[in-house]
Amino acid sequence: MADTQLVAFDDLEDETPDDEWFRELLGAAQRWADAAGTSVDHVDMAGLIANDESADAAGVPEAARRWQVLDRPSAEWALGKLRDAATRQLQLEVEAQTMAAPYTLRIDRIHAWLQGELAPLRVTEAFMGSQLERYAIERRKEDEKRNKTTKLPSGEVRTTSSAPRVVIVDQAAVVQWAERNAPDIVRREPKVLLGDLRQRVSVERLITAARVTLSCGCVHETSSPSGLDLVVGSEYHCETCAEAALLGRVETLAVSYRPVTVTGEPLPLGIGVDVDPGGVDAKVVLT
Ligand SMILES: [Zn+2]
Repeated sequence: MADTQLVAFDDLEDETPDDEWFRELLGAAQRWADAAGTSVDHVDMAGLIANDESADAAGVPEAARRWQVLDRPSAEWALGKLRDAATRQLQLEVEAQTMAAPYTLRIDRIHAWLQGELAPLRVTEAFMGSQLERYAIERRKEDEKRNKTTKLPSGEVRTTSSAPRVVIVDQAAVVQWAERNAPDIVRREPKVLLGDLRQRVSVERLITAARVTLSCGCVHETSSPSGLDLVVGSEYHCETCAEAALLGRVETLAVSYRPVTVTGEPLPLGIGVDVDPGGVDAKVVLT
């Protein structure tokens, strides 16, 4: 896997990407799913291919690792693959329904027969059960202490008792009543709404790595996980020339984000707030 190289669509047209390596890729995904004890549609294909170790283990073909959508023709090729798959899926489902049709009637009859056979058993259950329950309740009335359970060779009938209790059938209505008549039993769960939080906490973008050009002509790469304070035109100590220079161009290499108060004060850790860095998402729609 040393010489990984991305191949454009044109280079692969000769390799007929839809046949050989595509089949191998499917086999690799299946092996990976079997090893993980899951089904093939639960395999993270991008993750499997991106990780050399897992790709090697599953036997992902070389071409599948190199191939990428790079331009409109290759995007159209991939979209065509999705479209073919959707069409084929529909065909298979229709075929399966056609195949099942002759059996549908028979399966319905089997179900009807089963229900018929079960009916007397259900009646027995219901009738005998209610008789036994009634008997056990009567027996308990005779001796509340000793007859809580009626034990017999084939089983036992247990009885339990409960006192009349108040129940809530409409939470909103009872809250309304309690607010006026028993305000101390109304529980209020403390809660912070995201919209309100965003009024008080905002996001600060920190440059954590940058390439800076100095007035002495030197170019330095500098980084700090807590953020760099780089103001163009300010004084900057050049480590190469060992003298003061002025900061010229700043080229951002890495950024990170942190939650801050609206006045820019950093927030302590562990307050349950973080920054979602956002990003761009894409969704495929077949037309
Ligand atoms: Zn310098």
